[in-house]
Amino acid sequence: MKSPICCVKTLRLAVKPADFRMDTALVTCPTCFETFQVVLPGSGEVPCELDYDCEICCRPMVIQCWLSEVDDTVYAEAVGMDD
Ligand SMILES: [Zn+2]
Repeated sequence: MKSPICCVKTLRLAVKPADFRMDTALVTCPTCFETFQVVLPGSGEVPCELDYDCEICCRPMVIQCWLSEVDDTVYAEAVGMDD
């Protein structure tokens, strides 16, 4: 039985190790500051940048994905395209 609180945990620890295929992370929109979930690329495909439109305000953003060598986890962060 899952509690909604589980979603909050993905804020910091973005994903599980590489054998999980549908890794997701919560990112914060740089325009409206709402959070939404994105599917991350596999650990073999990072670092990379994803062009993405906010699911709430539809503004474009770039989601930067990278692999932490410390814990072998893919992290993601959204940055605005206006800067
Ligand atoms: Zn937004």
